[in-house]
Amino acid sequence: MKKIAVIGAGTMGNGIAHVFAQNGFMVNLIDISDESLQNGLATITKNLDRMMAKETITEDVKVQTLNNISTFTVLKEGVENVDLVVEAATENIDIKLNIFNDLDAMCAPGTILATNTSSISITQIAAVTNRPDKVIGMHFMNPVPIMRLVEIIRGYSTSDEVTETIMDLSVKLGKTPTEVNDYPGFVANRILMPMINEAIETLYNGVAGVKEIDTVMKLGMAHPMGPLQLADFIGLDVCLSILNVMYDGFKNPKYAPCPLLVNMVTAGKLGIKSGEGFYNYSASRKAEKVSTQFS
Ligand code: NAD
Repeated sequence: MKKIAVIGAGTMGNGIAHVFAQNGFMVNLIDISDESLQNGLATITKNLDRMMAKETITEDVKVQTLNNISTFTVLKEGVENVDLVVEAATENIDIKLNIFNDLDAMCAPGTILATNTSSISITQIAAVTNRPDKVIGMHFMNPVPIMRLVEIIRGYSTSDEVTETIMDLSVKLGKTPTEVNDYPGFVANRILMPMINEAIETLYNGVAGVKEIDTVMKLGMAHPMGPLQLADFIGLDVCLSILNVMYDGFKNPKYAPCPLLVNMVTAGKLGIKSGEGFYNYSASRKAEKVSTQFS
């Protein structure tokens, strides 16, 4: 595998493009929004600069990594002659089904189609293609250049050969792949999201404020980040989408998103990416307590 397309240049897509490019792959980064592409490239450059300052990479590596990335706003142009597509567009089932339907028509029959979805069924995505054996979940963690885990999700029809190829490829990227089966939320979010939702419910019920809830989990459970800060970091819209997928998929009320999360997303308070979530990021990315009626 030499040439990869990454669809979506947001929080995850730019990190995935960065990691492939730094490991010598030619990367076509595709987004419908030119602004997202420019922001994505700026984030990659900033992260490479930070690595240079820490002396973990040389300037040559930075230059080569950036040279390995090309940007596209037209899907057909970006997926031409690629060996693998990693889709990291918005967590929305209709968007993903449309993209995979198009990819199946545009890509060579041998191209593997992977999705970075956090929770949507790989089997359902694969079903809109004529190559369900070559569709697989490749779920990177945020921030991609730092986090080692890649959750590899086998859809109902994913072949052993494709699974093995993607497991080996993840190792080449310096990651630790872990194979799981295709059920809503897979493993990572099936365990993480109920915890985040419960932290939001705890805030909603007025049991404690934002900072207090995060402090309990950081100092008491040795979590590097509190659940509310982590929710801001992931994106509250992404958290809500994942909870809705699990709620619909299992028909179990324990996954019902907290009304406060729904309200915040409706109000456009999406966390770091919008400048405000449970914390305020307008002045700096350093988490500050937001004064709400709940804190
Ligand atoms: P994001 O909102 O930061 O970025 C999504 C990008 O997709 C945007 O730039 C948008 O313009 C682009 N996009 C939308 N429709 C498109 C289309 N049809 N073609 C091309 N580009 C399109 O989202 P994100 O947080 O990067 O999430 C992307 C995927 O990664 C989702 O499936 C999400 O569940 C998953 N994921 C997110 C996290 C996280 O911490 N945020 C972690 C793991 C996996």
